[in-house]
Amino acid sequence: MSQHHHYTWPRLPDVRHRVACEYCDTLHEVDLIEEGREAHCLECGFVLYRNRPSSLQKAVAFGTTALSLFVLVMWFPFISMNAQGNLSEVSIPGAVAALWREGGQLIAISVALFVIVFPAALIASLLYLCLPLLFGRSFPGSRRVMRWFLGVQSWVMVEVFFLGAIVSLLKLIKLADVQLGIGFWSSAGLMICLAGAVGGIDRTELWDRIETSEFNGKEKS
Ligand SMILES: [Zn+2]
Repeated sequence: MSQHHHYTWPRLPDVRHRVACEYCDTLHEVDLIEEGREAHCLECGFVLYRNRPSSLQKAVAFGTTALSLFVLVMWFPFISMNAQGNLSEVSIPGAVAALWREGGQLIAISVALFVIVFPAALIASLLYLCLPLLFGRSFPGSRRVMRWFLGVQSWVMVEVFFLGAIVSLLKLIKLADVQLGIGFWSSAGLMICLAGAVGGIDRTELWDRIETSEFNGKEKS
């Protein structure tokens, strides 16, 4: 290995690393690649994994920003409405509670899942995995958390469409003078941060880092 190469993530040397192409399912033996490069599927050319510069630091930065924005989304009004001089403010938890009270319990639960539970799970699992990895360590159960993290990712994408639907519904309801609140803008920022956090670090890199840190942990004890 020459001095000019930067293989920025650690990997156990004696373990077989395999990754399946997400597009065509072909299995590949995984080699480490240099920083800034990406590996492609030999069958279809789809990107298998990337080595992004300072990916772990970026994931943690996006993750902590997402956490603060999430708090703002929960706390501040999503919209405020002015109907005949009555100002009413609706936060996301408030909207879920209102839906629940007014009988739309199935909708209340799905809104709560897509807008509160899944994003919270994504942020929590990302930070649970990445924070200790900054120090070459991992918290207990990291492999299981990693599987949740990968599983919940696909659901958080739905959030984008869901929020779009909410906003267009609000536009249809022209009963009131609707204004977007801090909660709305924070959730827009939250989605950008979540996309940055999820897209910024490769799953192959995360698995390698988790394996290495668990192995080093066992060596020490
Ligand atoms: Zn492929």
